[in-house]
Amino acid sequence: MAGGEIAHAERAHALLSASASHRWLHCPPSARLEETLPDTTSEAANRGTLAHEISELKLRKAFTDQMPTRKYNAALKKFKAQALYEPVMEEHTNAYLDYVQKIVHSFPSPPFVAIERKVDYSDYAPEGFGTSDCIVVGSRQLHVIDYKNGSGVPVGAEDNPQMKLYALGALKAFSLLFPVDTVHLAIVQPKVRAEPSEWSLSAADLLAWGKSIKPIAQQAFNGEGAYQLGDHCKFCRAVGRCPAQVKRAFEAGESLPVKPPPLSTWAEFAEALRRVEPVVAWFTGAKKLALSEVLKGTELPGWKAVEGRGSRDYADLDKAFAHLREKGIEEAVLYKRQPLTLPQLEEALTKAVYKELLEDAGHVSKKPGAPTLAPEDDKRPAYNGQVKPEDVFSTPPEQS
Ligand code: SF4
Repeated sequence: MAGGEIAHAERAHALLSASASHRWLHCPPSARLEETLPDTTSEAANRGTLAHEISELKLRKAFTDQMPTRKYNAALKKFKAQALYEPVMEEHTNAYLDYVQKIVHSFPSPPFVAIERKVDYSDYAPEGFGTSDCIVVGSRQLHVIDYKNGSGVPVGAEDNPQMKLYALGALKAFSLLFPVDTVHLAIVQPKVRAEPSEWSLSAADLLAWGKSIKPIAQQAFNGEGAYQLGDHCKFCRAVGRCPAQVKRAFEAGESLPVKPPPLSTWAEFAEALRRVEPVVAWFTGAKKLALSEVLKGTELPGWKAVEGRGSRDYADLDKAFAHLREKGIEEAVLYKRQPLTLPQLEEALTKAVYKELLEDAGHVSKKPGAPTLAPEDDKRPAYNGQVKPEDVFSTPPEQS
């Protein structure tokens, strides 16, 4: 690792961390609630950490450290030897480096570049600090650039509170030396987007936003304020046992009318679906949590773990197949040759090669998805095709 680097996996996190800010800004008590729960990690998160370390090395060599090529190559080789390394990281971290280079070269005179810089935004959120991947400042412009390795949810720069908090910290650190008029936020997420997501605002607007969140941040710091359920719950450590989710599960069936015949109206039926939908989603995750707790020995009144359905497997695949071949079973019977799916191929080839060789060459046909039920406020337009029930269900839905 190059001198002066922060080990990504060992970074300290503020209670009001920038990365969780979309959560504590929506749901202030989540910060103190999460504090009581262990911070678990995943293979994807560890892979992201490795990609960040490689990015950092490349940026340091390009902009800040006088790093001999041999030292750089040795450090890169070490990263590449790690089990979580995937060859596509080379292309993705280069895309990030190219973007930062493009920004740096767009300045009329050389800007100041800070890599993996700890920034302090405690003027807006108590004890708030974080580490910004890359800050470029000069000529009255501030750029805050973040690399994201995730392939799931695309993260946009527009109005992104994590990026705005980093930018507030960067202003505090640099604006005395480098006065700033305009702040540019960018998220490079090569696994989901060919071009970085960019958004700009004036330094004055950023400072006004910082001021506007101070009361919420104080509530979050104090563990006060109202729970607010929403999309921001997805990565909350409290998800499952969160008091607001448990309360909603209790309340879902309350006050639904129980009437004598005839059937409930379609409006009542629709209302029941609407109320129960988030509870069903909660239940799926909550059951997994409950099972893992019961297996750890936690007592959950009314629940126990039981043995699920068993499965069959080869005692020794090689021996079994050798035996079958000896007995005259043809290889064609034993093996299935299957093409990779398009998403698997895209992952294997990289997005650019996939696009050039398959999409651009007309080898990919896009079929519309089957109709699916969604709440009225879903962003997708309402389905307007004519569909028969048997197109959706293998058997028509029961009417009782
Ligand atoms: S699960 Fe959602 S509502 Fe509950 S604490 Fe976390 S963010 Fe707040």
